[in-house]
Amino acid sequence: MKNYDIIIIGGGPGGYVAAIRAAQLGYKTACVEAASTLGGTCLNVGCIPSKALLESTALYEKARHDFAAHGISTGDVKLDIATMIARKNDIVKQLTGGIEQLFKANGIDWLAGRGRLLPGKTVEVTAADGSIAKYQASRGVILAFGSVPVDIPVAKMDGQHIVSSSEALSFSDVPKRLGIIGAGVIGLELGSVWHAAGSEVVILEAVDELLPMADRQLAREAGKAFKKQGLDIRLGAKVSGASVKGGAVEVQYQDKNGEQTLTVDKLLVAVGRKPNTANTIDPACAVKLDARGYIEVDEHCATAEPGVYAIGDCVRGAMLAHKASEEGVMVAENIDGQAGHVRYDLIPAVIYTHPEMAWLGQNEEQLKAAGVNYQKGDFPFAANGRAKALGAAEGFVKILVDADSDEILGAHIIGPNASELIHELVIAMEYYAASEDIARSMHAHPTLAEAIHEAALAVENRAIHKANPKRR
Ligand code: FAD
Ligand code: AMP
Repeated sequence: MKNYDIIIIGGGPGGYVAAIRAAQLGYKTACVEAASTLGGTCLNVGCIPSKALLESTALYEKARHDFAAHGISTGDVKLDIATMIARKNDIVKQLTGGIEQLFKANGIDWLAGRGRLLPGKTVEVTAADGSIAKYQASRGVILAFGSVPVDIPVAKMDGQHIVSSSEALSFSDVPKRLGIIGAGVIGLELGSVWHAAGSEVVILEAVDELLPMADRQLAREAGKAFKKQGLDIRLGAKVSGASVKGGAVEVQYQDKNGEQTLTVDKLLVAVGRKPNTANTIDPACAVKLDARGYIEVDEHCATAEPGVYAIGDCVRGAMLAHKASEEGVMVAENIDGQAGHVRYDLIPAVIYTHPEMAWLGQNEEQLKAAGVNYQKGDFPFAANGRAKALGAAEGFVKILVDADSDEILGAHIIGPNASELIHELVIAMEYYAASEDIARSMHAHPTLAEAIHEAALAVENRAIHKANPKRR
């Protein structure tokens, strides 16, 4: 049996980051990955390919609808799906290959095969040819199995007509009619991709409100923007059945008017993801799974088995790549005797639709429910010069602060580059900043970040480029 200091099972953004941090700290490290490439869901069929397609289709949309206003005439604009998908595949290949190079540079062994945890920090690896090898970790085992799409019995996926997000990232043609079950982050992002590419998209969402986890003001603004784009989102529409008939998919759903039918060419099931933990842990181990298959861990990602940790999508909390990676760093550092920690209250949430949305900390509804005495400052991108110049003057920045201490408690952005802008607030909140700290920091002109500056000024009704309520 070969020995390592640290063995990680799963090479996604949780596992591969944990492996790199462990190797940086001087540990002999191995990472078990069953797929033919490293990078997990995120690099292969998640964050990266979806953003590559969002960029392609946004450019297509711009070329058709926005260029004329700049005086640019393009003639007949065409989108070649094969080229768009090949570009996306190439980006994925470069990045997954990059992780392989990083493993080599850090002296990390990639153990190719399916890993299973045995008692005594032992890992069994079954290779593609069926051969089995065992490895032991002296310092720790990190489980980073990730997640897989949820399959619902009312719409069984066949990989052809009724598909998951993985297939929807590689359609060979633009489906004329695309149905999507679930208006969560994945449903909205992929709905935006194919809508911009030319599909008639209908999103069926069981819940009555859009983005229930988001600030209501932000969700309302998003709903208006999607409506303006012609994205058909049907709320309160619960899918009860789907069947393939003559090459099309007939979807049954219930809404307030009763039973409805929708016929589409492809149906994307985007109802969430579940932990990929089936048959990964020997029952003799003390590691426990909860009723939904998540590995039970404490706030430092330790399981009930000494020296065994679990991180990322296979444990509680937000199913996000950056959360998985930060947990990986924390665990590697804690195995090293350091004081690694994750600020679970400061995980930025981002939705890469057009406009983008990003938020952090508490929203107004949460503050009201908790009885917190808060104040808010907001600022519309319509009054921001850079947003105007970009032709993207939709949305706003909203900052929520404690009314007594002025400490920032939450930040909500919908608008151009929200995914990048939110990080000014991440740093501010990491340092427990007050809105006054942002208000007093000079922001370059003209920038989108000035909208954050103005929102901070607006907390005390002193924004410059909008009319403030009268001060006493
Ligand atoms: P994963 O990335 O799922 O990696 C787990 C890895 O472990 C896989 O490679 C798997 O093959 C391997 N594995 C599992 N079991 C075993 C085993 N027994 N033996 C060996 N190997 C095993 N998140 C964001 O933060 N931003 C986004 O923009 C974003 N967009 C997304 C878009 C889509 C379409 C999807 C589906 C997801 C998106 N996510 C996004 C979520 C993000 O991909 C996940 O949160 C993230 O990948 C979780 O990382 P992980 O390391 O926990 O698991
Ligand atoms: P998320 O978990 O963020 O990916 O979002 C998945 C979404 O799918 C949630 O908003 C669910 O309400 C929605 N959903 C789940 N099952 C159904 C269903 N049968 N019909 C319509 N929407 C559904």
